[in-house]
Parts: sequence; C-alpha cells; structure tokens
Amino acid sequence: MIRTRFAPSPTGYMHIGNLRTALYEYLIARHYNGKFILRIEDTDQSRQVEGAVDIIFNTLKTAGLQYDEGPDIGGDFGPYTQSERLDIYKKFAEELVSKGKAYYCFCKNKDRRSHDQSAHEKYGRTCYRLKPDEIKLKLNAGETYVIRQLIPEGETRFLDLVYGDITINNDELEDQILIKSDGMPTYNFANVIDDHLMEITHVLRGSEYLSSTPKYNLLYEAFCWRIPVYIHLPLIMNEQGEKLSKRKGHGSFEDLLAMGFLPQAVINYIALLGWSPADNQEIFSLDELAERFDENRLNKAPSVFDITKLTWMNAQYFANMNPDDFKDLALPVLSDSIKTVGVDLELVAGMVQPRISFLREIPGLVDFIDALPEYTSDLYIHKKMKTNLENSMESLKFAETALSKLEEWSTESTHNVLVSLVKQLGIKNGQMLWPIRTALSGKPTSPCGAAELCGLLGKEESLRRIRKGIQLF
Ligand code: GLU
Repeated sequence: MIRTRFAPSPTGYMHIGNLRTALYEYLIARHYNGKFILRIEDTDQSRQVEGAVDIIFNTLKTAGLQYDEGPDIGGDFGPYTQSERLDIYKKFAEELVSKGKAYYCFCKNKDRRSHDQSAHEKYGRTCYRLKPDEIKLKLNAGETYVIRQLIPEGETRFLDLVYGDITINNDELEDQILIKSDGMPTYNFANVIDDHLMEITHVLRGSEYLSSTPKYNLLYEAFCWRIPVYIHLPLIMNEQGEKLSKRKGHGSFEDLLAMGFLPQAVINYIALLGWSPADNQEIFSLDELAERFDENRLNKAPSVFDITKLTWMNAQYFANMNPDDFKDLALPVLSDSIKTVGVDLELVAGMVQPRISFLREIPGLVDFIDALPEYTSDLYIHKKMKTNLENSMESLKFAETALSKLEEWSTESTHNVLVSLVKQLGIKNGQMLWPIRTALSGKPTSPCGAAELCGLLGKEESLRRIRKGIQLF
C-alpha cells in the first residue's frame, strides 16, 4: 500500500511550492490507489501563527486535495498533529540513547558549538565524552539538556527519484539535536519518527531538504527501519530567476486566488511545474492528473513560474467551464455592471465566457450596453473587412431603413435583414456587419457580432445607435 503524506508547518499561508508538494503526494497516492495523509508539523512553537491550521485545511479543500487521514478526520495512525505526539518522540529519542546512537548534551547555548577545523561550525561533542555517572548526576540535578544524534563515521548514500544517487561524507554532518531543551522534538527528528510510524512509503519535499536526508537515513538505520522512497522537488523560481516568495507577490495560493485565478487552473498549472506527460497535453482535470501522473517523469531543473501561462490557462478554464457554473460566477458581476433594464444577462454571460481570463474583465467588455462610448469615425475603417467611411455610411443608411420596418425584432430576424441587404447591395458580409457592430458598440471589439448586438440592445436602442453613427460622418 502506497502511503504519502503532506506535512506542512502552520505558517499562515500556503506557498505555491508546498501546494505543489501536496498535489504530487495526492497524485501518487491516487494513482496507486494508496492513501494520502495530512500531518501538521507544529513543533517549532516560535513559528506558530493563529488560524494557520485552518488555512491548511481550507486550502486543501479548495484545491480538491482530499486526504484520507488527518487531524480533523482522524485515522488509524493518529494523532496527526506533532504537538500531540511529544511522548512518542521522547520515547524514541531515549531508545536511541540507550542504543548508543544518541546522547544527552548539557552544554549551554553559547557552548553548544565549538570551532574546529571544518569550514562550518560544528558541535564539538563535549558531552559525548561524559561518563554515565556524570550524566546521571546532571539529570538528577535537573539540568536542562538536549538529545543529539551521534553521527557515525563513513559515508551515507541514497537514491532520490529526481536527483539520482547521492553520497555524502558523514564528516559533513553535525550531531544534530533531536530533542530540544524545552522537550520538543526538532523537525529533523519528528519527521523520521512519524513517517515510520505512519507507514509512509514515499516522502516528497522541497530540494532544500536534500542535504538533511543523510541524517534522516542514519536515524532510520539506527532504528533498523525501512527507508522510504525519496522524491525531492526542485525550487520554483519567478521569471526574474528569484526564489518564489510570498513577499514578492504570487508566492501563495491565497494570493493567486485573490488575483482572480481559479483553484482548478492553479492546480493544473502547478502540476506542470516540474512534471510533464509524455504527450503535449496541458489541460487536465484532477482525476486525469491522478491517472496520468508518473513520478519517474519529474524534472530536476528549477521550474519557472510563468504568470502569463497561468493566465492563459485560467482563460481556458473559464471557456471550458459548464455554462451554468460560469453563470453562477458571472451573473453577480454582470448585474453589478449592467443597469439597463431588460438586458438578458444570461445571454451576455454566454457571450463573455470564451473571452475572459479574469472575472474582473467583464465590466470592461459590457460597459457599452449601458452607454454608447464616445468614438470617432476612424473606427469604421477596417482593412480586412474592406470598409471605409463611404461604404460604412452607405451600409448604416440601408440598414437603418430596412431595420426600422422590421416588426419581429430578434437576433435572428435582424441577421436575416442584414444578410439580405448584403446580397441586394452586392457587398461583402463584413462591409455590412462591421459598420453595424461598430455603431452598436462604439468599440473596436465587442463580445458578439452585429445581429447579436441588435438582439441584446432591442429595436429602439439599436436604431438610435445606428442613426448616431450616420450623424457622425
Ligand atoms: N514541515 C516541513 C515544511 O513545512 C515539511 C517538510 C517535509 O515534507 O518533510 O517545510
């Protein structure tokens, strides 16, 4: 049984890199019919942020990443919040001490590191040399202590699915702290204990953890536990080549949603930030992603977060959305922006649906409905449509006469009138439709063509605008 876990620290927002990790963990679990677990890593009390755990729950919900076990839904391997598992870490740390793989360290903060020949500061193992009696005495006297991992000599080798074979000389590793003086475990210790006890088979995390992985492996070995499959994910950069951060904007899921991106579009986009299918497909539902996802196709080059591409994807999601779902999103915006009575807002929703990247673009697309904008006759000149000032005025005049006589006013009937005028005058379609479209919208682009605009604006308003066009020449 494949078991993956998302193990965020509650920092108050969901960094895009973390969301991608969660997504890939979810996809691997679903792909192999395994389980996806949520674990809250809150042992660093100094980083606690009020309400941060709810942000994690809500983000995963909004993103559609339903977990099978977690703090709020339970499961057989709980508790799923690290601060509720403190006894467990203590017990395992003491087990390591008794096996000679870890030791008590009583050094005060300032003594905890001592300079040696190595390039970086490393703890000098002062307390490792304490005799059992001395340790007992200090413990009995209630001296504060930390528990440190004893890094053995030699090298540590492991395989990462993305970064390949990695070998580290243990000299480079410090006797890291497992249990802090306040009794809390460090992340470096707790993650190993929990991943083992929760039977996690695949560990995915950012590549910033790559250098710590040998220390985790030494812990697994000290306990004689099976080491999970490691999948470290490359950094996500912005287009300037900097690490994506909340500070620099669009670093978090919340920021992107606030900018008007749809959760599904963001998920689809970040699935491709480091992974690609064998073909060129780019639009995937979450289920399709789960079916297609292949952890062997992850890329180790840093991914570049391209907001233009995400914007394109957002437009695709709007365009392909079920029309009723789109209406639910668009109607409130439309009824805020269109005050003219009698306009069929549902019809307008259908017109703008394939034309937007963001809902906030809607008002600018439909503003001509309430009020014809000021425009100049230049707008009638269109090379491709073969229109100029003279033939445009002609078309407007013929259309005005024919349309005034029309009794049953609709998109269809006005279309028929305009098309038969085209035939009668022996002109190109565009030479009639472009001037009408221009007169009715007063803009170089509109969300629909001439006849649809007639239908939308009604007879009286349409004729008023066509006459206004004629006056303009
Ligand atoms: N709590 C760590 C973080 O939020 C998780 C790293 C991991 O997945 O092991 O960065």
